[in-house]
Amino acid sequence: MSVLEASAGLVIKKPMVANIDLLDGKPSLIGITREEMAEALMDIGVPQKQAKMRVSQLWNWLYVRGVSDFDHMTNVAKDLREKLKTHFTIARPEIVEEQVSNDGTRKWLMRFPPRGAGRPVEIETVYIPEEGRGTLCISSQVGCTLTCSFCHTGTQRLVRNLTAEEILAQLLVARDRLGDFPDREAPQGTIMPAEGRKVSNIVMMGMGEPLYNFEHVKTALLIATDGDGLSLSKRRVTLSTSGVVPEIFRTGEEIGVMLAISLHAVRDELRDMLVPINKKYPLKELIDACRNYPGVSNARRITFEYVMLKDVNDSLEDAKMLTQLLKGVPAKINLIPFNPWPGTNYQCSDWEQIEKFADFINHAGYASPIRTPRGRDILAACGQLKSESERMRKTERMAFEAMMIANHGADD
Ligand code: SAH
Ligand code: SF4
Repeated sequence: MSVLEASAGLVIKKPMVANIDLLDGKPSLIGITREEMAEALMDIGVPQKQAKMRVSQLWNWLYVRGVSDFDHMTNVAKDLREKLKTHFTIARPEIVEEQVSNDGTRKWLMRFPPRGAGRPVEIETVYIPEEGRGTLCISSQVGCTLTCSFCHTGTQRLVRNLTAEEILAQLLVARDRLGDFPDREAPQGTIMPAEGRKVSNIVMMGMGEPLYNFEHVKTALLIATDGDGLSLSKRRVTLSTSGVVPEIFRTGEEIGVMLAISLHAVRDELRDMLVPINKKYPLKELIDACRNYPGVSNARRITFEYVMLKDVNDSLEDAKMLTQLLKGVPAKINLIPFNPWPGTNYQCSDWEQIEKFADFINHAGYASPIRTPRGRDILAACGQLKSESERMRKTERMAFEAMMIANHGADD
């Protein structure tokens, strides 16, 4: 059954058996820059003067048509296709599990092959359909080094950063599953019109702290917003950070996407507890970095996320301090009702209190939408993501590598 016919509550699970094809360790052509792709092609013998043209062809197949099999690249000569197959992969990660919430939110658990040392990692990606748009919530790390006390991901230690390929693959898989690439029969060059797309927006709000994986996130987002490929508008891409101040300026300058800050508290003392990175980069430095964010204006505001925790940060005094703190920063405030997860001690503020808080902020002149929790029933809402991938011990890693070598031997 296609996922588009899937009904709410449906879970498709795949057995947790390592897929030998995925263990081949070939480098992927997904998630590298045009220059790197040209180098890769020349390394396998494509003449330098052809490299640029070949890159354009491949770019179109990979990012406009969404193909994941070299044999579908019909305008690439067969012998080159064979060579590409021998040296590279463009395979998608495995979808281990797919869940559909009562409200239409979808969550995918994807497993990425090890590509070299290490074992496969699993990450979660969430799709949130809304009237007139569809937002994909993408992960940047497996786990997180930070330990925000209200966040489920924060209870999982960092396993590792995702590569640019793995970050981008989340978008490609979502577009595959949602039918967001043109049909294979559609004429060459066909691009899905921006208005009709299922995935119209991206938020880097899944697992992990994107600014602790800056280079890979940058490469992936520049490819996602490349006008000759996936061509998402940079205004529809939002990167959320817990406040890695030294990387904020670069985010605007080098990636140019919209910025969101996980603020959650307006006093250093409380923020130190909720978002511990605050001890390193306290509120004043964070807000100064926001004021200096390249391209910030009333038309391109910074979003401040504020999770509503009962009796912790939800008083009207907090609301007042919030408006004072943000004076002079082009801002919108996103109030997020706390999403519970197994084992947490926090509670979500009462609805009445959230509304009072929102009213206060509105009267002070800020847009302050209350984010409707989506996908709570499948643990897909903000802060609920967590994967089962554990950090690997050295002995395990060696055993795993030995298994891979054995698999290769059997395969050859
Ligand atoms: N690490 C980045 C990106 C994750 S974004 C960051 O912290 O900004 C996920 C958003 O959901 C962040 O604003 C995070 O603070 C918030 N969040 C985390 N746990 C939550 C929970 N249990 N309920 C609601 N929001 C939560
Ligand atoms: Fe990491 Fe963000 Fe969760 Fe904090 S809120 S633990 S930074 S994912």
